[in-house]
Amino acid sequence: MSLAEVDPAPWSAQRSAVEQPQRTGEAETRRALHICNVCGYCNGLCPVFDAAKRRPLLAAGDRDQLANLCHHCRSCLYACQYAPPHPFALNLPRALARTRAESYARHAWPQPFVRSFAHPHRAALLASLITTLALLALVLIEVPVARLWAVHQGPGAFYQVLPWGWMVLLAGLALGWSLLALGVGLRRFWRASAGTAEAVADAAWDDRLPALATALREALSLRHLHGGGPGCADLDARPSHWRRRWHHALLYGVLLSVAATVTATLYHHLLGRLAPYPLWSAPVLLGSLGGLFMLAGVLGLGWLGARADPQPTAPDSQSATQALLWLLGAVALSGLLLLLWRETAAMALLLILHLGLVLALFLLLPYSKLVHGPYRLAALWRDALERQHYLHRRDSDG
Ligand code: SF4
Ligand code: SF4
Repeated sequence: MSLAEVDPAPWSAQRSAVEQPQRTGEAETRRALHICNVCGYCNGLCPVFDAAKRRPLLAAGDRDQLANLCHHCRSCLYACQYAPPHPFALNLPRALARTRAESYARHAWPQPFVRSFAHPHRAALLASLITTLALLALVLIEVPVARLWAVHQGPGAFYQVLPWGWMVLLAGLALGWSLLALGVGLRRFWRASAGTAEAVADAAWDDRLPALATALREALSLRHLHGGGPGCADLDARPSHWRRRWHHALLYGVLLSVAATVTATLYHHLLGRLAPYPLWSAPVLLGSLGGLFMLAGVLGLGWLGARADPQPTAPDSQSATQALLWLLGAVALSGLLLLLWRETAAMALLLILHLGLVLALFLLLPYSKLVHGPYRLAALWRDALERQHYLHRRDSDG
């Protein structure tokens, strides 16, 4: 019998579970990482491949850890010899993106709020509408309506619209609740992600602090968005550094805006100076730079997202990213417009809109794509601890 006469059907029927793409995100991630653990071709691209070798069972906690360690640089799809049109149809970035999104929902607390992960645009819009309208209602109750259209200038102008005490109370409650919920979720993730790797849970703080410093350095430099050196597969297979640059702009924009708020608080309490502050004061300079960086990052990442090859991205994850970019962009734009028009009659409504959007951002912190920052930092910390542990063991064995 010649080869041409062989019926291919029995071969395809016998394809093992490892060779066939799986329906669920968890099973597909497991299948993909099993193949990667045998192949090893992409080991230099990022820490995920070495970490997967340390967790050969690829249990649920292992997959959560590896998915959050992945920075979605997309390079391993274009490097992969088993990617479509190969019958294995391996798409590791997409599988990890699905598992990552599922891990946010699984570990979130309390569970009734988890639905916002499934409808990120609706959640962002609803949260923004509710907080902004609630603030407007509060202002209408607290101060005469005429103040909404009046021009307010000089120190304390913002508090003519919304008293300082209300601002602090609302921001404190929203942020306090979100930090509590995020802390519970992170703790669940941390416990689960110990997985089947050799125990590092009992590592002494002497080991934990250097590992945390490594993780912070890697997170702030976005080291793993370098695609192993030449850059990420931003739009298609060609490497570039633009995803990392725009992500840096957004990250540092947010950090500068936080620094502006902290500085303004110090001005208020230590120096007794009331907002709004002069253009050349530290809070305004930090806030303006932060807003501009955020806007640049949002536009850059939005442009990349709209033009990039959709193959490596899970649709749900893409939708969550878009919703977050819209919200961050709205916060940055409303803050910059408030700065530009703070001495006009538009100030009161712009202030309410900006504060409403900031409150929505605070409230969605544990229930939106924003959680990827803390989860990734935790995954990097655990990975640094594991690497440290294996180095110590090798030294003591050697
Ligand atoms: S992504 Fe493909 S090429 Fe890279 S390690 Fe996995 S199986 Fe090998
Ligand atoms: S997408 Fe990038 S970061 Fe994620 S596993 Fe592949 S190479 Fe690593």
